[in-house]
Amino acid sequence: MESTVQEKGTISIHTENIFPIIKKFLYSDNEIFLRELVSNAVDAIQKIKRLSSLGTFNGELGDLKVQVSVDPEARTITISDNGLGMTAEEIKKYINQIAFSGATEFMEKFKEAKDANEIIGKFGLGFYSAFMVADKVEIQTLSYQEGAVPARWICDGSTEFEITEGNRISRGTDIILHVNAESEEFLEEHKLQVILDKYGKFLPIPIQFGLKTERVEDGEDEEGKTKYKEVEVPNIINTTHPIWTKSPTDLTDQDYLNFYNELYPFSEEPLFWIHLNVDYPFNLTGVLYFPRIKKEMEFQRNKIKLYSRQVFITDEVKDIVPEFLMLLHGVIDSPDIPLNVSRSFLQADSNVKKINSYITKKVADKLSELFKNDRKAFEQKWNDIGLFVKYGMLSDEKFYEKAKDYALLENTRNERFTLEEYRNKVAPLQTDKNGTVVYLYTAEPEKHDGFIQSATRKEYDVLLMDSPIDNHFISHLEHKLEKTSLKRVDADVIGKLIEKEEAIPAVLTEEESAQIKTLFETSIAQPNMQVSVESLSPDEMPVTVTMDEFMRRMKEMSKMGGGGMMGFYGTMPDSYKVSLNGNHPLISRILKTEDATEQATLTKQAFDLALLAQGMLTGAELTEFVKRSVQSLNRD
Ligand code: ADP
Ligand code: MG
Repeated sequence: MESTVQEKGTISIHTENIFPIIKKFLYSDNEIFLRELVSNAVDAIQKIKRLSSLGTFNGELGDLKVQVSVDPEARTITISDNGLGMTAEEIKKYINQIAFSGATEFMEKFKEAKDANEIIGKFGLGFYSAFMVADKVEIQTLSYQEGAVPARWICDGSTEFEITEGNRISRGTDIILHVNAESEEFLEEHKLQVILDKYGKFLPIPIQFGLKTERVEDGEDEEGKTKYKEVEVPNIINTTHPIWTKSPTDLTDQDYLNFYNELYPFSEEPLFWIHLNVDYPFNLTGVLYFPRIKKEMEFQRNKIKLYSRQVFITDEVKDIVPEFLMLLHGVIDSPDIPLNVSRSFLQADSNVKKINSYITKKVADKLSELFKNDRKAFEQKWNDIGLFVKYGMLSDEKFYEKAKDYALLENTRNERFTLEEYRNKVAPLQTDKNGTVVYLYTAEPEKHDGFIQSATRKEYDVLLMDSPIDNHFISHLEHKLEKTSLKRVDADVIGKLIEKEEAIPAVLTEEESAQIKTLFETSIAQPNMQVSVESLSPDEMPVTVTMDEFMRRMKEMSKMGGGGMMGFYGTMPDSYKVSLNGNHPLISRILKTEDATEQATLTKQAFDLALLAQGMLTGAELTEFVKRSVQSLNRD
């Protein structure tokens, strides 16, 4: 069809040429042109559906879908829809007057823009993102309105455009991109498929990308066996009703698991999930899954995906999802989250803040429900969810307030208690003379076996604190729980870990105490080993080497990068306390030994045994110790 130019004109922005700027600043994200154009096509179809249901449009809706096609020879990409279409007047209004909300403002702001999303979202440049990949963009459209004539718009990326009569014979719009030299990659089918999958997998209107072959039944052969044939069918890339758009009551567990598998193929089954659904004071739907955590390193692998009206936006959900829930998987969809997901903008957005606390509350409530409904199942899942919960309690005060009722402490016998249960359990025996309840813990039950046995002899309980964040969790509990202190089971001899009023009477005289202290000090001869004589039960070890709880924690934190006082402790040499058990028969024996060499050997041997119990005897010292032991066994 010969077309006569009906109108030539200038796109109404108050600057010379906006497109070089769009191209330059948006280049890094240029694949989003497809998201924008397909979204516009979907919008156009949803609009005609609405007009139809309102009775404004009475014609046939037909097979509503968006078609994306690529023609490598003509070097074009076409996005077609059978939506409501546009008249020439509408093109002028909606396309030409770009960013009528403020092109001047745009020109002032573009310098600060950090990414394409920011500009596109803020200034409504969705359609114009086409110029990131095209030299020339053409629109062929026919409006649904009665008597409408087809219109064609073409623009080469300057501010000059042309409107003529178009050639579309059915309702809808084609956007034809004449791909520029730098964007040839988008002429590859595979590339487009990947982008469509990324942004369009859950769009609400079917998106067709070419054809695919399918095997279908084709009657029976002579022997009565089913015959098959291959047929070409439209290749629809999306699921139009993903589960987050449905009501939880219409969904089975299997539906949730299938969806998880669709999002994260080959992942292990999630532990449980939360269906989010809120429409006031903001709109948000979604499904969040609690994954099973095997290795710490897996945390970041699968991310929560953020959608806006079923259009994928990003998997950078920072600020929308509380930090401690970043380990969750799944989907969040909210039209109230601005498309321009730039950091600074999100942090300031009040909806985003509300969404963040809503999600925290939902997760806390879901956990509480699981705990109340099936404590046993909850306990079984604790290994996986404990980390989230502890992290959440550390980082979010509101979450702590809820989670403190179901957070579990586990002891070395694999029994689990809530915070309140545990306190009730240990308070009677583990309250010291100052009224402080002392919780004992270990991260390495194998290594601390001797200390755990000492505690067990006193009927004390020992907690297992071996998760990566337990160091912080321990400090937090001390801070939160009244009159409570947590001590690692090897931080001192048991009688000192939990000091009681009633002291064990000392067997040694003061003089003897001083004498044995000197013997050991001479034998050890290390300035960072402080010897003291204690009056302990004869059941306890004769000599025990320990590191003070406070000192050890500071050193651990300094290793993890803590500054200030922690950094200071980090630079100090390790220092230990050597506790001699004055009531132990071996100590008396050493005192009574008259032969000086023999006495020195016994002293050294007793000290080495203490080092051995702490895993601190290594290298030449260990070899010496073994040699001495063999000699003494072999003596008589
Ligand atoms: P937005 O989608 O945010 O309105 P765009 O720049 O993407 O901004 O599009 C501008 C306008 O152009 C749309 O609001 C719509 O009126 C019109 N438009 C764009 N694409 C189509 C289409 N495929 N069919 C009908 N109208 C369209
Ligand atoms: Mg748009």
